[in-house]
Amino acid sequence: MSLLVAVFDGTRELAGTTAACSGRAELFEPSWPSEHPDIRQYRREAALAVCADCPALPSCRQWITNEPRTRWHGWVVAGEFINH
Ligand code: SF4
Repeated sequence: MSLLVAVFDGTRELAGTTAACSGRAELFEPSWPSEHPDIRQYRREAALAVCADCPALPSCRQWITNEPRTRWHGWVVAGEFINH
């Protein structure tokens, strides 16, 4: 399991602190085909707001630089919506 997936699940810490996304994976995960566009936008904006206040943001940004971007396509990670 990826470190960040464990952080999202609330089973791991990042940078020695409880990340703001802990236990809130549903805000960060990719959209699904039948998801209403308003819900999609709400989730994305909420996730970006959570990242903005996260104490682990610097470490998360460092961590994502070493991850394959395709692995996180469609996720919000480290204050960024990854779409490439
Ligand atoms: S910066 Fe965002 S994705 Fe990274 S640990 Fe914090 S809340 Fe989670």
